[in-house]
Parts: sequence; structure tokens; C-alpha cells
Amino acid sequence: MSRFWSAVVHGLTPYVPGEQPKIDNLVKLNTNEHPYGPSPRALEAIRSATNDSLRLYPDPNADALKAALAQRHGVQPTQIFVGNGSDEVLAHAFMALLDHERPLWFPDITYSFYPVYCGLYGVAHKTIPLTEDYAIRADDYLPQGHDKAGAIIFPNPNAPTGCLLPLAEIERIVAGNPDAVVLVDEAYVDFGGESAIALVNQYPNLLVVHTFSKSRSLAGLRVGFAVGHPALIEGLERVKNSFNSYPLDRLALAGAVASVEDEDYFQDSCRKVIATREQLVADLATLGFEVLPSAANFIFTRHPQHDAATLAAALRQRAIIVRHFKLARIDQFLRITIGTDAQCAVLVAALKEILAA
Ligand SMILES: *Cc1c(COP(=O)(O)O)cnc(C)c1O
Repeated sequence: MSRFWSAVVHGLTPYVPGEQPKIDNLVKLNTNEHPYGPSPRALEAIRSATNDSLRLYPDPNADALKAALAQRHGVQPTQIFVGNGSDEVLAHAFMALLDHERPLWFPDITYSFYPVYCGLYGVAHKTIPLTEDYAIRADDYLPQGHDKAGAIIFPNPNAPTGCLLPLAEIERIVAGNPDAVVLVDEAYVDFGGESAIALVNQYPNLLVVHTFSKSRSLAGLRVGFAVGHPALIEGLERVKNSFNSYPLDRLALAGAVASVEDEDYFQDSCRKVIATREQLVADLATLGFEVLPSAANFIFTRHPQHDAATLAAALRQRAIIVRHFKLARIDQFLRITIGTDAQCAVLVAALKEILAA
């Protein structure tokens, strides 16, 4: 606390990122990073961009990246916004598109940055409970008489549950709220979901947000983007150009373009994670864990006889870090990132020991 803080700062409750411990030989399964490295072509592009041109500002409009993404996703460059990680894209969306007289609706169990941005930007919100099965139910997001959303945001697959809402259900929410922006945060969609980008030409109220941090294994580069109607994109650009004209540096732009162009590597590395996930789910079931159906690069699991926080602490003693949320409804779950086959084998062996002890 300081008397030099502004009133806004006094009222903030900041997001708490998963820890990045500085311990060697850690099995780090807590922040949903990709277990395999980025495309070698992306790394080479970053190395090649590391030269005298770094004295110059990067392209403020990121035209090359927008062109590559537009081609990859079958849309126009004017339908794409890029930012310094998708968290920044989301932040701009909260200010530009999600702040209205009626509250923003999002699930009670979801990405915990959403309420943080509501606090930062003063966005009124209402949380909609997930079902007993921890699923998003499309009907709950349709106008209920006079009770309508000012805007809607949710991840698909949801975080930290990993549960996927089928595209037809997303479309019901978007079509049923023609006067509200629906933002679908597809941070994990490449691990088994169908992207709502397929719907953006039909619905001017749909914004789809992606990140390079998970499926493209570039969390350290900080690149995210949004796809939607040009009018939504223009709103985001207005905020961005009132905040920071150069959110993506030259290395990020070069690496991101090369990553998008290396489709084979991308598909292959996502496939590997999915295969490992299916093996891990089977192994955990054998140990008596319940695992929610996951379409992400993590799983959400609980054991009927073992306390989640105790399990997380016992894993930590064995240098295995997973994520536990001390929150209502989910405090008996662990969120476990899909690592390499070897890392998951170490995890399963450790859990077997812990349960037997
Ligand atoms: C990881 C994550 C993000 C943020 O990704 P960055 O691009 O690294 O900022 C956004 N939304 C959800 C649901 C995530 O899990």
C-alpha cells in the first residue's frame, strides 16, 4: 500500500500466474506449456531477425503476420488483430468490446483472468454456473426474458476443466445473442476442438481469440490474435493504438510468421500431445482417478479417496509440479499439463506410490 497509488490500483486484485520455479530436473506440468519445442523454422527465423535491424521499430501493423494468419484461417487480413500474447488481446477486448451497460456473462469456473480484467476496466459481470458435470450449457447463455448479456466470454475448451462445447452449441449462443459480442477464447482448441473461426463471416458479433503459447509452443515469444468482423477488429486497433503501437517486436513477428508457415510441424506436435493425453487418461483411470473429458493439452482430475491439495504437495516433494486451485467447486481437482510420454510416466509412477503409501 502506498499513498502514491491511484484509486484504481488500490482496488485491483491481480491475476496470479502459475509459478515458474528455478529448479533443475523439475517435471513441470503446471502452466500448460507445450512439451516439445517450437518449429525449428520459427527458431531459425528468430535467429535471422537478430541483426542490425533491431535498431528500427517493428511494423506497427504486423502486416506480414496478419497476411500469414489470414491465409491459414481463410479470412481477410482486416479480420485479424494481433497482440503481445492473447492476454493482451483479451485485455483490449474487455475495454473495446465487452464493457456495456448490461453485465458481461462468463462461467463460474473459467479462466481466472476474466474477473481480473473486469476489475481493471470496471466491467460489470455475472457468472453462470457450469452444470453438475462441469460443462457449459448453451441455453444458460441465451436471453432469459428481460435478462440479457451485455457481452459473453468463455474459453473453448474451457479452462481449467478442458471440456469442449461443440461448434453447433457455440453457434446457438452467438446466434441467440445478436446484440452482444460473444468472445470465444480458443487457447486450447488445436488439441481437439473445432474452431469457431468457421463462423466469423456469418456473425458480426463473434470474436475468436487464439494464442501461440500453447499449441505453437511459443509461450516465451508472447503472440496472440483475434479473428472477427472488421468492425470488431477496428475497435481493438483503436485501443491498441491508444496504448502501445508496437506490441509485437521484430523477433516475435519473424518467429510467429515462420511458425504459421510450418503447418506440418504444428499438426504433428499437436497430434503427439493428444496421443499422450489419451494414454495419461487411461493410466489415471487405472489408479482410480476421475478425469473430465479433455480436448486440451491438460486434464482436470480428482481422486474420490484422496485430497487434491495433499496429492499436489506429495507430487511437489518428488519435484513434480501440477496446478491446484483453492476455489469453490474445484478444490478437489488437479489440473495436469500433458508433458512428454516420459514425464507422464514419471507422474503416474509417483501417483501410484503416493496412493499406496
Ligand atoms: C494460456 C491462456 C491464455 C493466455 O495466453 P497468452 O497468449 O500466453 O497470453 C488465454 N486464455 C486462456 C484460457 C489460457 O489458458
